[in-house]
Amino acid sequence: MSSLGVTLWFGFGRGGAPEVALVRDLAVACPVCGWGREERRFEATPFHSLTVGRLRERLDAAPPFDGVCEQCDERLTEAAVTRWAIRYGLHGGVGTIEGFATAHGARSWRVTPRAWLDGYEVPAWIDDGGDGSGLAESLTEAVVRSALGRPLSAKQLARRRWTEGEVLALSDGLVVAALRNGDPVAPVAAALDATGEQGWIAAPLSVGGTATAGFAGAADGWFGDVGAAHPDLDLWGLAPTSLVTRALRDIVARFPVESTVTEAPPGQLALSTPGDADPTPLLFDAGEIAYEAARTLADPRDVTRLELDRALLGATGLWTPGSLEG
Ligand SMILES: [Zn+2]
Repeated sequence: MSSLGVTLWFGFGRGGAPEVALVRDLAVACPVCGWGREERRFEATPFHSLTVGRLRERLDAAPPFDGVCEQCDERLTEAAVTRWAIRYGLHGGVGTIEGFATAHGARSWRVTPRAWLDGYEVPAWIDDGGDGSGLAESLTEAVVRSALGRPLSAKQLARRRWTEGEVLALSDGLVVAALRNGDPVAPVAAALDATGEQGWIAAPLSVGGTATAGFAGAADGWFGDVGAAHPDLDLWGLAPTSLVTRALRDIVARFPVESTVTEAPPGQLALSTPGDADPTPLLFDAGEIAYEAARTLADPRDVTRLELDRALLGATGLWTPGSLEG
């Protein structure tokens, strides 16, 4: 399958650890003659450790700038940056998070449900009289969850909220269960099947005090202390295959070229693009994607996009944050 003209949001850093792109827009004004321009950058950040705190840090940092005024040849540095915005997409149409900053220190955030991040769109600057409704002064998990019904970081939420013996829903697509050593997790998955999403897959996070390890986003990096403090418990993550299948269809439906997802047999997804010179479909296993989401407590929709971008990268070439608009 050749390039589809699709913006890739995920890439892979050192050791194959997934990175996700933020869009940063910044406005520069020459202090001498007033000439101004806007610039867009794509910035990679580690996916599994992305939290609201990390996004706040990204917004707080004034973006570096080094250039020359095209009108009067004045040297322009970051002091010429008057305002900037960062935008992040929660994939599968869950929503977007936008942060706005001015050089005078103003900060505000907007979390929009059921929205898709568009790498070509210009941010609606608030100080241009853009829609100022629904703005938050700061970005917190409470703000994200109340707007979107899911956390930005399920890992952080699980650390704060998990309870012994409880099956805790972190969102519509992620559950953490703390069971006694050796208690079977299958009944938990079966019970979840009756609640809405189907085909819940369980993955161990910590068994008998030892957290799972050895892959990007593994529990030893963010849940190891919790597991070690509770050797009498087995901690599990669970995610549904039905959400993976739906997310892949929803994402592909927005591609600029006609692409189709077929499911045969159930759980085996084939993405094909009629008219493409290379008719070989890209194949996905919904159960494997759900397992990856469960073992890293990452949203299944995000992981679906991650695996889709990984497959497209394999088909089309190398990813760098600057080469996203492929
Ligand atoms: Zn100038």
